[in-house]
Amino acid sequence: MYKTIVIGTGPAGLTAAIYLARANLNPLVIEGPEPGGQLTTTTEVENFPGFPEGIMGPELMDNMRKQAERFGAQFRTGWVNEVDMSNRPFKLKIEGGEELVAETLIISTGASAKLLGIPNEKESMGRGVSTCATCDGFFFRGKKIIVVGGGDSAMEEANFLTRFATEVRIVHRRDELRASKIMQDRARENSKITWSLNKAPVEVVSGDKGVTGLKVKDSTTGVEEIIETDGIFVAIGHTPNTRFLNGQLKTDEIGYLLVTPGTSETNVPGVFACGDVQDHKYRQAITAAGSGCMAALDCEKFLEGNAVHDWSKSL
Ligand code: NAP
Repeated sequence: MYKTIVIGTGPAGLTAAIYLARANLNPLVIEGPEPGGQLTTTTEVENFPGFPEGIMGPELMDNMRKQAERFGAQFRTGWVNEVDMSNRPFKLKIEGGEELVAETLIISTGASAKLLGIPNEKESMGRGVSTCATCDGFFFRGKKIIVVGGGDSAMEEANFLTRFATEVRIVHRRDELRASKIMQDRARENSKITWSLNKAPVEVVSGDKGVTGLKVKDSTTGVEEIIETDGIFVAIGHTPNTRFLNGQLKTDEIGYLLVTPGTSETNVPGVFACGDVQDHKYRQAITAAGSGCMAALDCEKFLEGNAVHDWSKSL
């Protein structure tokens, strides 16, 4: 039995863990398949306050984890398969069937990269198709790459990939980009970046040695063509990781958890949400960390008046 279990170890979960551990609530933090969250798949973070020269994403996350451990947070690796929120204490089943019980839960499972859903995409993952430039960019040294998407992620990944590739082509389904002006400008000023706008991806083309091209359809004329490439980086946004909750918490139409505005409270008393899993608007490391702090404080307050277990006997 834990006072609180934090699910997810991005900036939101780890900040919650730091606050909970400092409040002597001995949190258990469950690390899923992407420990450290999305920041571990980025390079330099330039906009997290306190680092005037910037800091590498993985280093920032490692620091947060150490900070939580320093105050007594415990960590366990495993996929959460099932959560029962029908009664408190809540029950969790993690990979391998082990059951954990907790008075309160903090959901900070973030969001995962979306795929295009076109033929031969999934089959080509790891054979030329990737959703993580920082993880896989190195493998495309001296090669031609396509980045799909028109948002900030696509611009950022394209710029990053020019470190390795001879040419990075941004393929976007419209002629207007969704990315912020500063990110667009950086991409446009990069001489290694070329553009295929108004081209919707239709199929990943591959041969014996992996990806050889991307078939696209012109969004205005309907004409299809194959753009030759050695690799395709899909950067079209993310989906919140809420499936394991099995509909027990209220979400918006896309699946992001709903919280009472100005708090981290979900519709189930004692269950709190923070970070990208409940935020499709800001999605920044700093806003995730801030919401993690809110969740920890909300949780602490909740436990003061609503504990079902007599903790004085267990201590
Ligand atoms: P996003 O802003 O939602 O952009 C996704 C892009 O992918 C859009 O251009 C979209 O096209 C395209 N797309 C989506 N589904 C597609 C499909 N099935 N086929 C083809 N194209 C598809 O996502 P994001 O770029 O990941 O950014 C998410 C948030 O994180 C934003 O708020 C962004 O500002 C932030 N962010 C910030 C930074 C930074 O400041 N350093 C870096 C990365 C992300 P349409 O435009 O046609 O819909």
